[in-house]
Amino acid sequence: MKNYDVIVIGAGPGGMTGALYASRANLSVLMLDRGIYGGQMNNTAAIENYPGFKSVLGPDLAKDMYDGSTQFGAEFAYGNVESIEDHGDHKVVKTDDGDYSAGAVLIASGSEYKKLGVPGENEFGGRGVSYCAVCDGAFFKNREVVVVGGGDSAVEESLYLAGIVSKVTVVVRRDQLRAQKVIQDRAFANDKIEFVWNTNVTEVLGDEMKVTGVATKNNQTGETGEIAASGVFIYVGNLPMTDAFTDLGITDDKGWIKTDDRMATAVPGIFAIGDVRQKTLRQITTAVGDGGIAGQEAFSFLEDLKAKAASAQ
Ligand code: NAP
Repeated sequence: MKNYDVIVIGAGPGGMTGALYASRANLSVLMLDRGIYGGQMNNTAAIENYPGFKSVLGPDLAKDMYDGSTQFGAEFAYGNVESIEDHGDHKVVKTDDGDYSAGAVLIASGSEYKKLGVPGENEFGGRGVSYCAVCDGAFFKNREVVVVGGGDSAVEESLYLAGIVSKVTVVVRRDQLRAQKVIQDRAFANDKIEFVWNTNVTEVLGDEMKVTGVATKNNQTGETGEIAASGVFIYVGNLPMTDAFTDLGITDDKGWIKTDDRMATAVPGIFAIGDVRQKTLRQITTAVGDGGIAGQEAFSFLEDLKAKAASAQ
C-alpha cells in the first residue's frame, strides 16, 4: 500500500489549497478525486467574488488552482473513496481503485445538488431536466426554460441562461429570494427573467421524448397551473457528500462534518474543509481559507506524532 504524509479527499478549491499548504511544508501529498479537479467551479460560468479577479471563468480558475496546488510535488489521482480506517498514528483510505495510507487525512469531498423529488424529474433527466446551466444551457438556445429555486445558484444561473435562451421563468416557493442582494437586483432588472412567487413545481411534464413544461401549485391560493418550457433547471440546495465517512462519527444529523476552527474533526488527524463542513457560508473563498488552515494543521499534527514517537523510544 502506498504511503503518504497527507491524503486529501476531493480536489475542489478547498482540497487543492490543503494540498498546496501541506506539500509546500515539504509533506508528501496525494489528492484523490472521482472526477476532474475543480469541483463545482467547473459548473460555474462567471465567478465575481474571488479576490484578484473581476470576473473569471470557473474552469479557468480551477486549472490555475490545480497548477498552483501541484507545484510543490502534490500528486493527483483518480479515486472514489469508500471509507477511512482510523489506526491512530495512520489512516487507511479505501477507494474503488485500491487503498492508500497516510498520517493525516483532509476531507474536502464537497456537496452535491439536491433533487426536487417530483414526478418526471428522474424520467426526464438528460432530456430537459438539468442541474447545470453551464453544461446544458446551450441546448436551449432561443427557447424558454424554467429555473426552480431562489438561492445564489438559481439566480446566478438564471442570469447565465438569460444570455442564451429566450425566456427564464424562476419558480420560487416563497415570496422572496435567498440569493445575495447584488445578484437579485441584476435578475430583477433583466427583462428575460420572470419570477413566479409562492409557487411549487409539482411535476415535470413531457411527451415521450422531452420536457414540455412544469405543473405548478400556488401554495397561498391553491391555484394550479402549467408553465411551458423546453428545459427545467433545478437549484434547490445541496447535500453533503459524506456517505463514506458516517462510520467515523464526525457528522451532524444532516451529514455535514463538524470541525473546530482548526478544521479538526472528532478523529485526531482527520480534518475537513470547505462545503462538506457544517458552516454558514459555502463559497470558494471560505473553502480556500479552510484548506490553508487544514494543510498547516496537518503539518503540526504530524510533527506532534513524530515528537511523541521519538520520546517513546
Ligand atoms: P441554497 O442557498 O440552499 O438555496 C436553495 C433554494 O432552493 C432556496 O431558495 C430554497 O428556498 C429553495 N428550495 C429548497 N428546497 C426546495 C423545494 N423542495 N422546492 C422549491 N424550492 C426549494 O442553495 P444554492 O443556491 O444551491 O447554494 C448553495 C450554497 O452555495 C449556498 O451557501 C450559496 O450561498 C453558495 N453559492 C454561492 C454563490 C456565490 O457566492 N456566487 C453561487 C452559488 C452558490 P427557501 O429560501 O424557501 O429555503
